[in-house]
Order: sequence, then structure tokens, then C-alpha cells
Amino acid sequence: MGKALIIGAGGVASVVVHKCCQNPDVFEEICIASRTLSKCDALKDKLTGKTSTKIRTAQVDADKTDEVIKLINDFKPDIVINVALPYQDLSIMDACLATGVDYLDTANYEPPDTAKFEYKWQWAYKEKYEKAGIMALLGCGFDPGVTGVFVAYAQKHYFDEIHTIDIVDANAGDHGYPFATNFNPEINIREVTAKGRYYENGEWVETDPLSVKKVYDLPQIGPKNIYLMYHEELESLAKNIKGLKRIRFWMTFSDNYLTHLKVLQNVGMTSIEPINYEGHEIIPLQFLKAVLPDPATLGARTKGKTNIGCIIQGVKDGKPRTYYVYNVCDHEECYREVGSQAISYTTGVPAMIGAMMMLKGIWKKPGVYNVEEFDPDPFMEALNKYGLPWHEDFSPALLD
Ligand code: NDP
Repeated sequence: MGKALIIGAGGVASVVVHKCCQNPDVFEEICIASRTLSKCDALKDKLTGKTSTKIRTAQVDADKTDEVIKLINDFKPDIVINVALPYQDLSIMDACLATGVDYLDTANYEPPDTAKFEYKWQWAYKEKYEKAGIMALLGCGFDPGVTGVFVAYAQKHYFDEIHTIDIVDANAGDHGYPFATNFNPEINIREVTAKGRYYENGEWVETDPLSVKKVYDLPQIGPKNIYLMYHEELESLAKNIKGLKRIRFWMTFSDNYLTHLKVLQNVGMTSIEPINYEGHEIIPLQFLKAVLPDPATLGARTKGKTNIGCIIQGVKDGKPRTYYVYNVCDHEECYREVGSQAISYTTGVPAMIGAMMMLKGIWKKPGVYNVEEFDPDPFMEALNKYGLPWHEDFSPALLD
């Protein structure tokens, strides 16, 4: 049915590639393209002989729009799946615009020199994409991604009006290292060390990083400390869900992770300000990434489960209603299936599903969109089919 150019060859890309190859009727041919060609070839080798999807590889520096344009003109994909880093979003979107090809990513653009999480740069492409007759689907991982689909599903089936949303992202996995991040360390630490922010009564309220903590008892995981953070889907959901009064995002962190993070922050290792080291300019956070375990290698050692979901309150037929929808994912099962841990898995599966929705024309309109702007039903069905089944609870505990 279609050809997908997958940019990036890290933890998430590996899952996207495996999942596309499990679905050869939709993904007839893929090209895995990244900065380091050997990583693309290694991924191809893992799947050769196990799928009827044709696989090519290519080297590309996706910071350079011209290189991406050249690759697109050569491979002629129907869609570009960007699972490189958020820094490449705009250069890849420009290349898609120049060549008339649809675009999908899992994280919003961040300027490398400031940790700012905003959709404004990518939403600014809306008119240009409409005029070109192509589509961009933004933030189609788990969070952002499935969390937006969950909210759209709740809105469609259970609520006349949604008033509050609490997104809770829990990872009870243990990889056995004293400190490691589950996805790209630089992006992860930028996100975690940023100020907390949530939306209430039409305003954004800022909090100090990880200063607001609660305990929540998560199905199949148990009680965990959860910390209020800013996360990018808050911005699009606050805009797209009419009548919303409050939306917050919470994530679990172990005491061990937080202790290490605090020390690293205290000694300046998480800084993104360049410093001079023996005549070279280095960015401490990038140096830290180089010495931390590669998230793509955590799969074999990680045990335990993740639980990510949305706790929603609102009204239906004039009566108050509560609803909790969540997915539980087992690190070891993910590893058995695709050789990756659950964080990469829960991001890569929805990216494949989003691309499938677009290739099949189920989610398809020119412009730039977030996932909650489409009919959630076919996506929810696909989550059950492709490895991320979800559960519902109509009387969950609520967060005050
Ligand atoms: P990794 O660091 O494992 O992989 C990133 C890949 O991108 C690497 O292969 C890297 O190449 C490649 N890359 C980096 N820069 C360039 C460039 N200029 N040109 C071409 N390729 C490049 O990251 P993850 O797989 O963990 O994360 C991928 C994306 O998924 C990130 O944007 C992350 O924010 C997002 N994410 C989204 C989640 C969600 O739920 N929505 C959750 C988790 C992650 P090299 O190997 O040479 O460094």
C-alpha cells in the first residue's frame, strides 16, 4: 500500500521498524535513514528474512533540509516518520513541504539552545501544508500521542463536556543501573529539569521543577510517587478540548533517579550552556549523554511494567462523571517481541499506527494536526490489535 521513510535509528525507531515490518500489507517498503548508517544497517539485518516489507537504508543528516529533500526524491516515500530528535522537526517538515510528502513525528520541535516546549513553530506550518495538500500529524507517540487519542475517545463516547484531565505516566521498570534514562538522555533531562506548568481556568500556572508531589495507586503497579511536570500535549489539549477547566501531567520517578539527577544538576552536568574544556567547546548535558547507558540497550535488562493513562472528570446528560483509561505495558514482553523496552515500545507502536491511519486515508486532511483532532475509534481499535491494549475504570480514585 505505501512506502515510509523512517528517520532515526535509535530506541523508538527500532520499534517503528519492527512494527512496520509486522504489517507488510500497509508498509510495502521502508527506508531507514539516520546520521549513523551502521545503526540503520544493523536494524535492517535484524529483520531481513523475517518480513516481506522491503527494507533500504541510507545515511542522512536531517538537520540539513537539502539532504532530506534529496533522500525523499530518491526513495519517493508516501510518508516520512520522524523518530530522530525534536531538533530535526522543522528541517524535516521543510523537506516534506518542498517535496509534497506527508509527515509524522512523536515530539514537538525544541530549539537546541533553549529548553522550550511549544507547538508554535510547527503549528505555524498549517497554512503552508494546507496549500500544498499535505498533512503533518504531530506528537503521535504515547505521551504525546495515545494520551490525546484517549481524551478524544472519552469526549466522543462518555462526556458532553470534559472539565479536568490528569495524565499519569508511571514507569515501574527497573534496568538495574544506578542511573539511566529510558529515552534519549539529553531530551529526557531537558524535559524533567524544566519548570512544571499546568493549565487552570484559562491560565498557565508555573511551578518549580518536580516540586509538586502526590501518591497515586496505579492498576497493576501499585502506589507510586508522581510529580507534576509540563508535557507538550497539555498545550494542544488545552486548545482543542472545549470547556476544559484544568489539565495536568504527572510522572513517576524513583528516589534513586531523583537523587542522581539532583547531584548532576548541582555540579552543572545538566546545563545546556556551552563551556570550554581543554580548548574544545562542549555542552555538559551532551557530554553526560555520551557517558550514560544508551536507552536502546536497556531492553534486555529492564523488568517491570509501565502504566500511562488519563483520569478525566466532566458531565454527561447533566450528571457528573469520572473516567480513567490507561494502558499497562510489560518491559520484558516488549523485549521478547521486538527487542526493546516498554518506553520505546509505547512510543513506536502509536507512530506506526498513526502512519498506517494516514496511508490508509482514515486520518487524512491537508494541514498540521494533533492526534485529538481525528476520530479516535479506529486508532483505539488498532492499539488493541498492535500491542497496546487499554483498560477503562468508571470510578477511579481522583487527584485533588
Ligand atoms: P535515540 O537517541 O535513541 O535515537 C535518536 C536517533 O536519531 C539516533 O539514531 C540518532 O542518530 C538520530 N539522529 C539524531 N540527530 C540526527 C540528525 N541530525 N540526522 C539524522 N539522524 C539523527 O532517541 P529515542 O529513539 O529514544 O527517541 C526518538 C524520539 O522519540 C525523540 O524525539 C523523543 O523525544 C521521542 N519520544 C517520544 C515519546 C512519546 O511518547 N511521544 C516518548 C519517548 C521518546 P545517532 O545514532 O547517530 O545519534
